[in-house]
Amino acid sequence: MSEGFLPMDHVRVKATGEDLYVNSAHYVCLESGKPRQMFSVCRRLKPGETRKLYYADECELIHRHDFQPYKGILRCGCGQVYTTMADTMMPRGEVTWN
Ligand SMILES: [Zn+2]
Repeated sequence: MSEGFLPMDHVRVKATGEDLYVNSAHYVCLESGKPRQMFSVCRRLKPGETRKLYYADECELIHRHDFQPYKGILRCGCGQVYTTMADTMMPRGEVTWN
């Protein structure tokens, strides 16, 4: 199998030009007899829409984040900042700072 995509990769569907961000790439399709990587994408689903999987070999990689230490955080050259999402969660109780 050729090199697959990783979560957070920015990819484009060759046929349609759709821009996608990989969410999870842990899917494999075995229908054709040889394994093909599939991936789900980060997007808000419209009501009634089911989560769609894409074939990795029908897409090309546009950008893979390369996070480097930058002033105490991790940042990619494109400006994307690495986050665990923990900083966007509401605190569970009263927060004290000391
Ligand atoms: Zn980047």
